[in-house]
Amino acid sequence: MELKPADVLISHEQIAERIKEIAQEISYKYAGQDLMMIGILRGAVIFMSDLARAIDPSVGLTMEFMKASSYGASTQSSGKVAITQQPTMEIKDRQIIIVEDIVDTGLTLKRLREYFAAHGAKSVEVCVLLDKKDRRVVDVPVEYTGFVIPDEFVVGYGMDFDEKMRNLPSIHKVCQVSEE
Ligand code: 5GP
Repeated sequence: MELKPADVLISHEQIAERIKEIAQEISYKYAGQDLMMIGILRGAVIFMSDLARAIDPSVGLTMEFMKASSYGASTQSSGKVAITQQPTMEIKDRQIIIVEDIVDTGLTLKRLREYFAAHGAKSVEVCVLLDKKDRRVVDVPVEYTGFVIPDEFVVGYGMDFDEKMRNLPSIHKVCQVSEE
């Protein structure tokens, strides 16, 4: 199946505006403290790089990345999530914000929250750009949300289809390329 980007769901101007608001909230809460943002590869890279640059310099910010992937029936409650790339920085006693592109079933974030709790993090919060609320299978707290969206596949601003379209500045729905 070949897909191409269709209508813009959220424009890059809207994203920039919302990131400013979230960054203000985070900056206020962590002013004068250390904070480690951990981006989930690869979808969160672009979101996290814009978010991090909007954080006030009074926050002692460090940036780390890790990778998680689902296996088995990933869209079912039985789906399992594996940590396929661990963070290399010390987690113990750190204040952490997990930065993720989309929360869908919630399985990935649930697994990640458990991972950081097990590794002795001082605190763990979650910041997602998009929330597909209707699709949730497990309950997971999300402290900062960019936008709640309907159950539709989206690409752009870091999010891919078959590893492509991550570079689009806005978030798009997709449509199928018709065969001539
Ligand atoms: P969850 O464990 O919450 O079901 O999975 C979340 C992950 O599913 C996201 O990090 C993302 O990789 C993927 N995902 C869910 N919906 C979409 C979508 O509409 N577009 C893209 N590109 N990825 C999605």
